[in-house]
Amino acid sequence: MSGKVIAIDGPAASGKSTTARRVAKRLGFLHVNSGLFYRAITRVALREGLIGESELRCRVPELEIEPVIGEGFVDVRVEGEAAGTGLQDREVSGHVSTVSAYGFVRDRVLTLLRAAAELADVVCDGRDIGSVVFPGASLKIFLVADVRERARRRLLDYQTDPSDEAISAEAERLGARDRADSTRERAPLMRAPDAVEIDTTNLTPDAVVRHILDLAAERGLGVRAG
Ligand code: C5P
Repeated sequence: MSGKVIAIDGPAASGKSTTARRVAKRLGFLHVNSGLFYRAITRVALREGLIGESELRCRVPELEIEPVIGEGFVDVRVEGEAAGTGLQDREVSGHVSTVSAYGFVRDRVLTLLRAAAELADVVCDGRDIGSVVFPGASLKIFLVADVRERARRRLLDYQTDPSDEAISAEAERLGARDRADSTRERAPLMRAPDAVEIDTTNLTPDAVVRHILDLAAERGLGVRAG
C-alpha cells in the first residue's frame, strides 16, 4: 500500500520542483522529483553514448536503479551513483525528452516512482504524475506559467543574466521540450481532468505554496497555510 500522494504536474520550468519540495517540507512528506529519475537515466545514456532506442532498449532493463531516502526527498541511485539534486545541465536537458519518450524507460521509472511512494507520504512532481503514475492521488495540481517568465526564472537558476535575447533563446529551448513532452505517444504532458490548475506567472513562490497547502488542508492532508 502506498502512502498519501500529492501530484504536481506542469511544463518545463513551471516551478514544480521548488513548489513540491516546499509543500513536502511543510507537510512532513518526502519530495519525489520524477524528472530526476529520467535525468539520471539520460546521464548514463550520454556517458555510454547510447541515445538510440535499440541500444537503450538492451541497456535500461539491466541498469541497477533504486529509489533511496535522502534529506527530505527521495533520491535515485543508478549503478551505485546517487543523482542528488543536480543533473539540470543543458546536455542532459537537451536529451532527456528523447530518452523519456521510450516506453521501456517510462515503464521502469513508473515502477520506481510507485516504489518511492511505498517508502513515505510523498509530493511527486512531473508530467504524468496525476494522469498515469498516481491516478488516485489525494490532490492533483497542474502548474502553468507564461513561457518567457519560465525562461527568465530558469536563467536566474543558471545564474545567467536574463537579457531579452537570452530569454528568447531559453524560451525556445523550453518550448521545444514542452512540444516533445506533450506530443509523445506514451504518457504525454497533460493536465488530469481532476487537477487544479494554478497559473504562477504573476504569483510569488510563497503564494503558490500557500494555495496548495490550503487545498491540501481542505482534503484533510495537513495544516492550513498561515
Ligand atoms: O521536470 P524536469 O524538467 O526535470 O524533467 C525532465 C524531463 O523528464 C522532461 O522534459 C520530460 O521529458 C521527462 N519527464 C517525463 N515525465 C515525468 C517527469 C519528467 O517525461 N513525469
